[in-house]
Amino acid sequence: MADAVPDSRLVGDRSLRVGVIGAGMAGILAVIKLREAGITDIVCFEKADRVGGTWRENTYPGIGCDVPSHVYSYSFAPNPDFTRMFSPGHEIQAYLERVAVDHGVVPHLRLGDEVVSAIYDRGVWHLETARGHRADFDVVIAASGVLHHPRMPEIDGVDEFEGAMFHSARWDQDVPIDGRRVGVIGTGSTAVQITGALVDRVEHFSLFQRTPQWIMPMDNKLFSDDQRATFRNEPHRLRELRDFLESAFAENFADAVVDAKSERLEQIEDTCRANLYQHVTDPELRRRLEPDYRAACKRLVVSADFYDAIQKPNAELVTAAISRIERRGIRTDTGRLHELDVIVLATGFEVDRFMRPTVITGLDGRTLEEAWADGPTAYLSVSIPEFPNLFMLNGPNGPVGNFSLIQVAELQMDYILQLVRRLQAGLSTEIHATEAAMREHEARRIEAAQATVWVTGCNSWYLDARGVPAAWPWPFRRFREVMAEPDLDAYHH
Ligand code: NAP
Repeated sequence: MADAVPDSRLVGDRSLRVGVIGAGMAGILAVIKLREAGITDIVCFEKADRVGGTWRENTYPGIGCDVPSHVYSYSFAPNPDFTRMFSPGHEIQAYLERVAVDHGVVPHLRLGDEVVSAIYDRGVWHLETARGHRADFDVVIAASGVLHHPRMPEIDGVDEFEGAMFHSARWDQDVPIDGRRVGVIGTGSTAVQITGALVDRVEHFSLFQRTPQWIMPMDNKLFSDDQRATFRNEPHRLRELRDFLESAFAENFADAVVDAKSERLEQIEDTCRANLYQHVTDPELRRRLEPDYRAACKRLVVSADFYDAIQKPNAELVTAAISRIERRGIRTDTGRLHELDVIVLATGFEVDRFMRPTVITGLDGRTLEEAWADGPTAYLSVSIPEFPNLFMLNGPNGPVGNFSLIQVAELQMDYILQLVRRLQAGLSTEIHATEAAMREHEARRIEAAQATVWVTGCNSWYLDARGVPAAWPWPFRRFREVMAEPDLDAYHH
């Protein structure tokens, strides 16, 4: 197989034009890796006016990454200057912007211009942007993110509220928060981070919980000046830390969640329960905070300060169901009106959108909407049958959740490049997964998903409309293995 996937530097003879959609973490990566492969005719379209994706869009108080900083960073661009084990969002945003500059991404950016349609016709992708720009490409890499379409809750009366209300991913920095009465709807990772950051700033904090969450404790230690100097002056030390964190993470978490019977999963559960019982002493509050499903069934929330925050005198956990939103606040089904100045909808994302609303049309006029009528699928998350020379980073059903999506995207990009090199070398003109390969992969994936913790009795954004986890259900090493080299039998090429 290896000699079927040539190295472009040896045999490349066709110059390719590549369009990248999105300049978040994955789009930046795509441009860098394409350039390394000798492909320089690249345009990276970004609807916003800055790079950064998630880390540009999410500016809510307390935003951070609960994957260790030195794992949530590119392997080729270690950052000795991260101040903490788990970085605050603004450090990650600054890091991504710096990498984009240092690695030559900036000249390829077309900012403030959203791709609205992509039509494939005989080897060429015709792209059109919201500003009416048209351009043709041989290859398109969709790096448009996963959690980026805010999910607005269906609650009666949302238009009646007279205070300020916004989704967590659309934080309105002009709305004063300090000394005010703030309500947050939701108890996912976002709401938990907001809770820790806001409770000491506001007059009254109300957290509207529909479902309690298990909370994994986190020790977000600061790296001292000396440690950071060591990372800077002795890069191998940083590499060792990264390697250690990566394998600890894979063994202790990623491999545990895909095996609901694993001992390690029980240990995760014990750790979360002990965290709750140690930090919440009031039995009644504890009862209301204790989930009745298994830890990591929903995406595990990681926090150093949530339990302390929710027990502050000005904080209130509201577990009565929300009946409606009114002019002055939120009314629950007990009849009580919680008067509020600000409502934050930390209600998550439409996770099945991916590149949409961009209209994508593949072979024979088949649209992505049609191909994904029963839900988004792709062979190994990367290639969609009948959509040749279109490849996805962090596409459907890949490793999501408590993973470093940077690590995931790097493995996918190396895989995609091997296919792109075939095009570059003139060995193929059209590459896309076969329908049979995708169906077989999907069947195996769905079967394997039955052994994961995600199907053990909770509702979460991992589950698709059929209740099947839209995620990679095998150990992470298997993902690494399949991403090492494309199986060309699975492709039209
Ligand atoms: P989420 O995990 O989907 O949580 C949404 C929350 O809103 C849930 O508690 C949900 O309750 C609640 N909710 C939704 N609609 C509601 C309604 N109509 N009434 C009452 N409650 C409602 O969203 P998220 O917290 O934004 O997190 C999404 C994902 O982003 C995370 O799982 C994670 O992968 C990623 N993230 C990562 C980090 C990080 O540090 N790496 C930080 C933030 C987010 P139910 O549970 O009852 O559905």
